[in-house]
Amino acid sequence: MPDNNDCIFCKIIAGEIPSKIVFQDDLLIAIEDISPTAPVHILIIPREHIDSLNEVNHSHSEILSQIQIKAAVIAREMNIDQNGYRLVNNCGEWGGQTVMHLHYHLLGGRKMTWPAG
Ligand code: AMP
Ligand code: ZN
Repeated sequence: MPDNNDCIFCKIIAGEIPSKIVFQDDLLIAIEDISPTAPVHILIIPREHIDSLNEVNHSHSEILSQIQIKAAVIAREMNIDQNGYRLVNNCGEWGGQTVMHLHYHLLGGRKMTWPAG
């Protein structure tokens, strides 16, 4: 089982650390990133502690599909849907993951560059 005792996102989900919540339901929470890299930078986080995309299996299919569906809903609400946006998962050390609780970055409000590097 993953160790979530010191997980910052579990603490945010538990309300032990403050955050700016933009959406929540029984599966997910979406918050403003504390250190945004774009005018819109939202983190979409499952309530269940999952270390990374490396840990997912078919039992997570509802969570994973809801992340993309809610990303699209939030993008519409934040008016970044027409110009476009990016939904990113960083997995593991080489993927640039710094918080070991699965999450996706919804980035928009400026033109993204590619390759991401
Ligand atoms: P990653 O590097 O993909 O694991 O992304 C982790 C993200 O969490 C970074 O963009 C951080 O800025 C963000 N972050 C870390 N701590 C907090 C916090 N307390 N509230 C909101 N975002 C946070
Ligand atoms: Zn966690």
